[in-house]
Amino acid sequence: MPTEEARQVMSRMINFYDELLQLDLEEEALKISKPGEDALQQWLSGTPLIKCHLPTINTSFFLQLMDKVKDLIVSYQPERQEELSKIIDALRDDVQMQQSLAAGLFNLDQQSIYSIAAQWGVAVEQLELLLNHTLKLFLQRYAQRVAPFLDLKYWDSGICPVCGNVAHLARLEKETGKRFLYCSLCDTEWPFKRVACPRCLNENQKDLQYFTVDGQEKYRVYTCAKCKGYIKTVDERKMGGKTVDMFREDLQTIHLDLLARQEGYNVIS
Ligand SMILES: [Zn+2]
Ligand SMILES: [Zn+2]
Repeated sequence: MPTEEARQVMSRMINFYDELLQLDLEEEALKISKPGEDALQQWLSGTPLIKCHLPTINTSFFLQLMDKVKDLIVSYQPERQEELSKIIDALRDDVQMQQSLAAGLFNLDQQSIYSIAAQWGVAVEQLELLLNHTLKLFLQRYAQRVAPFLDLKYWDSGICPVCGNVAHLARLEKETGKRFLYCSLCDTEWPFKRVACPRCLNENQKDLQYFTVDGQEKYRVYTCAKCKGYIKTVDERKMGGKTVDMFREDLQTIHLDLLARQEGYNVIS
């Protein structure tokens, strides 16, 4: 069970994300066309849609949203005020960078973030924080808009069909016990084999075990002896009929991540 201190940290984090996800993102902020035949073929062969069907981010909305995200972070962590404001000021003065960041937000790698931080003389960690939260909002909007075009029963991977993030939370459906994997970055859920490791696709039942924590049997942590991967799982059958909010469940079960890691399991592929 999480300690009182951990519980407080979690509840602050949940409040923060509740507010973050309520930030307005106007319809025009993101232009997404219907995926063509080529993109859908690539998707069917296992490429997350964002890698083969890029939306266009409107530069001025991007800047506005970054600014709102900055204000929200600062309201929770005032000590970040100076550094985050420095980033927003640098971005406001650098029209070329605004365009290239808006155009490349979905493909940003660590190296590019390092070089932008160096160019502006700001802390990499703070820039990354700001960009990641902004990215999350755009990705969620993207995922909602492309959902009608994707038939998720054809996706049989442990990475997200929309954004490519590794799933580290699953849900066992209450009526059938069917398993769904969940992406906490873009909020997409997709069906997945009940007995298989989402990380290495191993189907050998003797390698696939789970553990629970006393008093919290609604959660299982499935582990794979072959790749040492794990996935947290919410057993809806033990939720007393409550609707499961997967994003919250992910935040509320950080103690299970710590336990799995202590046992030598990892989520990153
Ligand atoms: Zn995703
Ligand atoms: Zn595995």
